[in-house]
Amino acid sequence: MTTLSDCQALDAQDPLRSLRDLFALPDGTIYLDGNSLGMMPRTTPERVADVVTREWGQDLIQSWNKAGWFAMPLAVGDKIARLIGAGAGEVVAADSTSINLFKVLSAAIHIAQADAPQRTKVVSERSNFPTDLYIAEALCQQHGLELVLVETEDIAESLSADVAVLMLTHVNYRTGAMHNMAAVTAAAHAEGILTVWDLAHSAGAVPVDLRSAKADFAVGCGYKYLNGGPGAPAFVWVNPQHADRCWQPLAGWWGHAAPFAFTPDYQPAAGIARYQCGTQPMISLAALDCGVDTLLATEALGGMAALRTKSLALTDLFIRLVEERCDGHGLGLATPREHAQRGSQVCLSRQEGAYAIVQALIARGVVGDFRAGDGGRHPDILRFGFTPLYIGFEDVWNAVEHLRQVLHSGEWQDARFARQHAVT
Ligand SMILES: *Cc1c(COP(=O)(O)O)cnc(C)c1O
Repeated sequence: MTTLSDCQALDAQDPLRSLRDLFALPDGTIYLDGNSLGMMPRTTPERVADVVTREWGQDLIQSWNKAGWFAMPLAVGDKIARLIGAGAGEVVAADSTSINLFKVLSAAIHIAQADAPQRTKVVSERSNFPTDLYIAEALCQQHGLELVLVETEDIAESLSADVAVLMLTHVNYRTGAMHNMAAVTAAAHAEGILTVWDLAHSAGAVPVDLRSAKADFAVGCGYKYLNGGPGAPAFVWVNPQHADRCWQPLAGWWGHAAPFAFTPDYQPAAGIARYQCGTQPMISLAALDCGVDTLLATEALGGMAALRTKSLALTDLFIRLVEERCDGHGLGLATPREHAQRGSQVCLSRQEGAYAIVQALIARGVVGDFRAGDGGRHPDILRFGFTPLYIGFEDVWNAVEHLRQVLHSGEWQDARFARQHAVT
């Protein structure tokens, strides 16, 4: 049996322990929701205040040049590139994940059909994050294509000669299951199919190597593991072999080769710069820069590989403690046990009461979240994200102890925990 002092010993030996000092950790909270909204870095309030009071308040429009505002989407993109195996100048921080997905999926469809007009299908997983499916549905409508949604185990056999694009999320938001990006991409390419990867639950959470996986397009989220703050800009990567092949559909002036030439016709910028649309939200982008810096701080301590080692140790420990200490309470494991198939979260399933149990845990300061079973096709999920930058092994112990008490006492059945909020 694992004990509290075992967990404390793991914290004492943790080479990444000091990184939690980069964050403003709220008292009395064990935050297991960094996969949904990352923690605020300590540097963010001052940086945002400086952008507002000095760069905007004093320097006003000169800040586009003087403070480097104009170059920031690509500068932050270069930092994110280091976390996802992309090269410098290949990533831009812009817009939202949904919007970036619209851009890259459009481009992928355009390129695929230019090469092979008989490819009339876009394939994705039924369990993909809904916004990804909605964007794909809208684009398929526009282009007269068919969106084919398959179960995870049926992806391989769905890759046929009439498929244009395979669009997947690398780590599943509900279950934490992770695809083998290189293998899936190779299987798609073997059939002449382009790949679009959503890294919303991967960037800053697990090692990603877009270049060696030979992926075609990728997007990802700024406010989850990148700690960029609510509504932070997202990012987009396009394999350099495709970047100049077509316009992206939101051909705004920020993606123009010379926005300040003010020409009436569009000339796309070279490379990833054309995947910008309009003026970036500078206050949010500055906050994202602070968030990304917390991940780059790991580079001196072993980088994403070291984060991954700790992440797996945290999720292994959580699974083990739940099984040792919460046995007999109807919890199932919805996340794969195999390390190669697991992201940085653990999802527990329960036939009933999942929502109320999560609410009871939040009332005790253990913040996870709830995801509804897919129209009854799957049980409801209690979801716990483990951000190795700021979560420790004793936190895992305490979280499971709270869960044990909530289940054992039945306190989750209290009526106040059944009340539904707009955002779960
Ligand atoms: C969080 C998430 C998004 C979020 O999209 P927004 O445009 O930022 O609202 C998209 N896709 C996936 C897979 C996500 O996990």
